[in-house]
Amino acid sequence: MMRKLLLIIIDGVPYRNWRRLFGNLEGWVQQGEARVWRMRSVLPSTSASCYASIHTGVPPQVHGIWGNSNVRKLDLPDIFSELARAGRRTGAVTHSFWSEFFQRAPFDTVRDIEYDEETGPIHHGRFHTMAGYGHDNQMTPSDHDLFATLTRLCEVKGIDYGIYHSCTLDSMGHRYFHDCAQMDHACYLLDEQMAPFIHRWRNAGYEVIVTADHGQDDRGHHGGAGDLQQDFAFYYFGDSAMPARDTVLDQLALAPSILTRMGVPVPATMKAAPFFTP
Ligand SMILES: [Zn+2]
Repeated sequence: MMRKLLLIIIDGVPYRNWRRLFGNLEGWVQQGEARVWRMRSVLPSTSASCYASIHTGVPPQVHGIWGNSNVRKLDLPDIFSELARAGRRTGAVTHSFWSEFFQRAPFDTVRDIEYDEETGPIHHGRFHTMAGYGHDNQMTPSDHDLFATLTRLCEVKGIDYGIYHSCTLDSMGHRYFHDCAQMDHACYLLDEQMAPFIHRWRNAGYEVIVTADHGQDDRGHHGGAGDLQQDFAFYYFGDSAMPARDTVLDQLALAPSILTRMGVPVPATMKAAPFFTP
């Protein structure tokens, strides 16, 4: 069966915020249309290190992305490379780091801000750099616009696999921390903006994962160890058999799980056991 799947990465949302503030996602769980687990990030729980591990299934101690300041093209099989090799169509609507890791580096803004390339492994890329990002000006595009862009790749380009990634809530958490009205509203708003798109993607036949790259602690920090910095929710809209609900899923198992679910061989570098069934 030729399954289609979308991986939605909302950067920097700790487990407690997912389960408390995302009413549409929780409503789908309550109605039985989605299921939710806790997932734990690799260490360091730093964004770039996590992105590289999410898509290659190997830990930072193997891929060598020690933090956000040494982004480069990775020389490892990943979800894009294996799907493209199997003839499946891929798309990405993400921060430019993902293009640098998996397509080419360095990121040339005019050349790489959007591309449609038959050679892949990312066939249809739509990126943003957040150039000028700082504490008071987070330079993130509207998630509404980014969700629409991913939907265009689904409906116009016919992608089989697409990844979405946005730093809106990570930036809000760094700026305002988590016990405040600004953060309540930011999560509430993103949940409302995302819901109609999830509905549309499901109607188009995609399985959908909504999750994060890492959490954040009370001071908006991450990079280190512990539940707040490492743990986030993993919502799954799909029919695969899954581990018990109290299992803490391993971030390193995400890449081999997606390949397994999409019927593509898992490369030997991905050593974690998949939690999805074919
Ligand atoms: Zn992050």
